[in-house]
Amino acid sequence: MSEAPSSGTPYPYDAPASQALFDRAAAVTPGGVNSPVRAFRAVGGTPRFMVSGTGPYLTDADGREYVDLVCSWGPMILGHSHPEVIAAVQDAVSRGTSFGTPGEGEVALAEEIVGRIEPVDQVRLVSSGTEATMSAIRLARGFTRRSKVIKFAGCYHGHVDSLLAAAGSGVATFALPDTPGVTGAQAGDTIVLPYNDLESVHEAFHRYPGEIACVITEASPGNMGVVPPQPGFNEGLKDACRKNGALFISDEVMTGFRTSRAGWYGVDGVKPDLMTFGKVMGGGFPAAAFGGRADVMAHLAPAGPVYQAGTLSGNPVATAAGLAQLRLLDEAAYDAVDAVSAQIQSLVTEALTKEGVAHRLQNASNMFSVFFTDREVRNYEDAKRQDSFRFTAFFHSMLAQGVYLPPSSFESWFVSTAHDEQAVQRIADALPAAARAAAEATAA
Ligand code: PLP
Repeated sequence: MSEAPSSGTPYPYDAPASQALFDRAAAVTPGGVNSPVRAFRAVGGTPRFMVSGTGPYLTDADGREYVDLVCSWGPMILGHSHPEVIAAVQDAVSRGTSFGTPGEGEVALAEEIVGRIEPVDQVRLVSSGTEATMSAIRLARGFTRRSKVIKFAGCYHGHVDSLLAAAGSGVATFALPDTPGVTGAQAGDTIVLPYNDLESVHEAFHRYPGEIACVITEASPGNMGVVPPQPGFNEGLKDACRKNGALFISDEVMTGFRTSRAGWYGVDGVKPDLMTFGKVMGGGFPAAAFGGRADVMAHLAPAGPVYQAGTLSGNPVATAAGLAQLRLLDEAAYDAVDAVSAQIQSLVTEALTKEGVAHRLQNASNMFSVFFTDREVRNYEDAKRQDSFRFTAFFHSMLAQGVYLPPSSFESWFVSTAHDEQAVQRIADALPAAARAAAEATAA
């Protein structure tokens, strides 16, 4: 343990190099980070600045190694620095980094996606999940010539203005903007409903006949912790959309190519009209996509009138990385990720149970998270009713012992094919003390 943190956090401080970088970052970047959750605000303490990643491990600026259970928030399903992905990137880079013209790599990546995911006839590549969902919503509005969008509280679809509206509960309500900068007009066409509540969806369609362009949902939510759809929920959404002339958009940015070879569609088989992808398909680079029914995609420029574009869309380095990663992800790879995920899940349950900590571990295939409550979590309201202070203690104990968890109890944990016996053992060794810390934690 070294000297006290310069920013005065109440947490044990043993990452002087990270703290120095954080101080430098705070001077030139709002909050010191380029994406808010990285700042550790939910758990406190010094965000670790990572300098390298190999297999299941990350190394921080202080030279400490961590078993990584974040995997860059999902993309690194083969672990860090996979040799074949790195080789594909090096090969692509050696030929130039961006041409602003069509290239074969983007065709091959699109073919790989279309080949894996039956509801996707055509796909458009973009650079982030946010762009994918924003564009899918625009396309749905252009196609249906309607303006309203249903989304679910606790589902995250990137920082699209109209989709940041998460407030509102009960029956269909017009959401107020949650974020300054999102105007009432931008959020005014967004109807926010409780997740896993089909009745409220039917009521919304009844209340706004002919006005709802689409329903967007995370295929299996991982952004309020892991809260899988109840049996029949996605099917019910699809049916309600069909019946009312709206499009069903399944956001698979997180689940796509992770929860199975064909993402969550490969698990529940419910056929959306449009789908969005990101994370795994970029192999650690900025690549994302939206796609679906050919007749809907035909409305997209230049084939149709709905405009959408991007200077770096289909970037040759990003597509090479994504393609290399996807080609390595065969059934055996998913079996391996599922198996190691199941193993870690049971170790977590075992440790918390032993310490008498009320908890609920929820999973959607190999994605999982722990809620510090003994009740089932079916929606965002349930997710908020947990003892988050226990997570904070749990998180810091794991961190101190070299296991890097998502710094929030509202995030999924991610594993990779690289999480081998040795990595799992390190997690197993850290869990008893972390479970004890969770048991002993008291609300602030
Ligand atoms: N959709 C889902 C389900 C996500 O989990 C995320 C990001 O976590 C996004 C969209 C936004 O993706 P990006 O961060 O690449 O913009």
